[in-house]
Amino acid sequence: EKPLHYFLKRAASENPDAKAITFYGTNMTYKQLYEQTCAFANELHSLGLGKGDRVSIMLPNCPQAVISYYAILMIGGIVVQTNPTYVERELRYQMNDSQAKAIICLDLLYPRVQKVKADTTLQHVIVTSVKDYLPFPKNMLYPIKQKKEYGVIVHVEYSSRVHAFKKLVKSGDKQEFMIDIDPKKDLALLQYTGGTTGFPKGVMLTHYNLVANTQQASSWMYKLKKGKEKILGILPFFHVYGMTVVMNFAVMANSHMILLAKFDPTETLKTIAKQKPTIFPGAPTIYIALLNHPQISKYDISSINACLSGSAPLPVEVQDKFEKVTGGKLVEGYGLTEASPVTHANLLWGHRVKGSVGIPWPDTIAAIISPETKEPVPTGTIGEIAVKGPQIMQGYWNRKDETEKVFHGDWLLTGDLGYADKDGYFYIVDRKKDMIIAGGYNIYPREVEEVLYEHDAILEAAVVGIKDEYRGETVKAFLVLKDGKSVTEEELNNFCRKHLASYKVPRAYEFRDELPKTTIGKILRRVLIEEEEEKVK
Ligand code: ATP
Repeated sequence: EKPLHYFLKRAASENPDAKAITFYGTNMTYKQLYEQTCAFANELHSLGLGKGDRVSIMLPNCPQAVISYYAILMIGGIVVQTNPTYVERELRYQMNDSQAKAIICLDLLYPRVQKVKADTTLQHVIVTSVKDYLPFPKNMLYPIKQKKEYGVIVHVEYSSRVHAFKKLVKSGDKQEFMIDIDPKKDLALLQYTGGTTGFPKGVMLTHYNLVANTQQASSWMYKLKKGKEKILGILPFFHVYGMTVVMNFAVMANSHMILLAKFDPTETLKTIAKQKPTIFPGAPTIYIALLNHPQISKYDISSINACLSGSAPLPVEVQDKFEKVTGGKLVEGYGLTEASPVTHANLLWGHRVKGSVGIPWPDTIAAIISPETKEPVPTGTIGEIAVKGPQIMQGYWNRKDETEKVFHGDWLLTGDLGYADKDGYFYIVDRKKDMIIAGGYNIYPREVEEVLYEHDAILEAAVVGIKDEYRGETVKAFLVLKDGKSVTEEELNNFCRKHLASYKVPRAYEFRDELPKTTIGKILRRVLIEEEEEKVK
């Protein structure tokens, strides 16, 4: 019933002096966060921005990102989250697709924005300096590619179209800007899908969708004490997972966010030891990188009580090890941008099934259906996961055809293949699109990757289908080895043959120093496939 920014107002009035944000050297209370948000919202409105206008945020996690987000909502605007690593082509595409009127960016990113501005609908650029909230740590700069620009003042020519964030926050009226919002109808966010499998599409989420998913998170974490928890904010807020499970959840629970602008294993361990967060939402690659840190035992990370892993499969071995080193719980969940994003999770306190993504979240209904007939399949049978609930999107922005493809009545078809057991626990098998068909057999890359992960020398694995004249497709594995370890293709073949039917065993291996990933750490199988296709040409 309430718009999303209501919860910031509530936190600031119930507990004004509670800490909202710690960002390296900056601390901010809920009262300060709320007042700065109100001030910024009033100034955005004075620039002529208002209801229904799309405003982009191109920032790493930092106080400015939180202020900008809630201020855009407060004026009735629609947030467009822009990945700070976007190159000009991607930025131009997103600004034009969303028809954004304004963008808020870090000064280091300004040159990129300036280059595309004339080809877009952007009327205003608001620039925030890395120096606005000091110290913005040098080695934490995002994107790292621009490192050499740090220290050099990026030249920004302010004008009636280019504004300084800090000035607006300072001069704005601290009273809340009021506007009528219908939470069920009015969009709060256009969230572009990760692009793991194709060109990004703008997912339309209302205030109601986002409030629902945040409330579902709160019910799921029911034992956590309001106002007492500290949340580690490593997951980027420009991705819907970090936005809901860290930022919006923290504000709704009056919790203290410890923000990091970029994931760096050493910095993360140091921050946990110093700030003692209790909740740590993450993704498998994050937990894996911490566990492989040579000095993990030097840091006291025992403050961590609850971790949720989503966005990609969590190897069971990683779950066990991480629980051992922290003494807290780490459970796997599942979701997608189209569902704000979480739809399933294992219970933090109660029955949990390793290797399963858990049961549907409160108020969420899930089913396994036949991709062809859309009818439910028998328990234990693999089919497509379909979900419905208050967190499901309104559709894709300006893409009616694409929207129709992913809905069956009010069921959202997730594009993921999985099955459910007799207790209602769900298991992800793989993405429909990633399934490999070799010689008529269906092969799920994830199953092969899991076997490879069990090998002692392997740090990361990605399995894809590559073109094969005889079998149509064949299995290829891309591997990153652990430091100081080695393995031959023959050894890997023997290892895989022990654990997999022979049609699933990779026919080719390639060793790499690293694998292409999204900013949330998801391995981009699509990029590997494209590279293979290029080679063939
Ligand atoms: P795009 O939709 O453009 O291809 P993307 O899939 O990365 O990008 P997201 O919405 O960020 O976009 O990711 C959702 C997908 O992530 C799910 O559909 C599912 O395939 C995968 N996923 C999420 N959680 C898990 C999990 N626990 N195990 C396996 N896969 C998961």
